[in-house]
Amino acid sequence: SSEGSVEKEKTLALIKPDGVSGNYTDGIKRMILESGFRILRETIVQLDEDKAANFYAEHSSRTFFSSLIKYMTSGPVLVMVLEKENAIADWRGLIGPTDARKAKITHPHSVRAMCGLDSEKNCVHGSDSALSAQREMSFFFKEMSSDEVVPTHDEL
Ligand code: ADP
Ligand code: MG
Repeated sequence: SSEGSVEKEKTLALIKPDGVSGNYTDGIKRMILESGFRILRETIVQLDEDKAANFYAEHSSRTFFSSLIKYMTSGPVLVMVLEKENAIADWRGLIGPTDARKAKITHPHSVRAMCGLDSEKNCVHGSDSALSAQREMSFFFKEMSSDEVVPTHDEL
């Protein structure tokens, strides 16, 4: 927050296993940078079941939960911290709706329209609120103050 007069916001972006294995990483990063985000941190992580279940704990009672955990542990994910003004809402806007089939119709230029398949395999994640962003950034990157992000991928 020392650079410039506008307070920037941070959010967590995650390229899910289908996005990584489908070689969409470079295309997604290009969309991120062209939309004015800075990528502050990135790390590749192979989630285990406990870690994935903890990350998606809010969905633990949903019928799709076990399928979601299987999907999220099926291969490595690329985790990033993005920064810009209004980063949380703008990244959610750029990725498009949860169901990638709908995204292809209603948000054809979105990330999920580009690389998603359906309501589960939608290739990317974005924090949905300031509280989620803080929780999710500290989930992957230790001790995130407003000015500092310390990677902890060797602890995951
Ligand atoms: P979002 O990722 O858009 O915030 P949710 O938080 O509702 O969506 O769901 C988390 C993730 O769970 C989704 O990104 C998707 O991978 C999966 N999911 C959501 N809804 C369904 C569903 N109806 N069937 C299967 N998987 C789903
Ligand atoms: Mg969500």
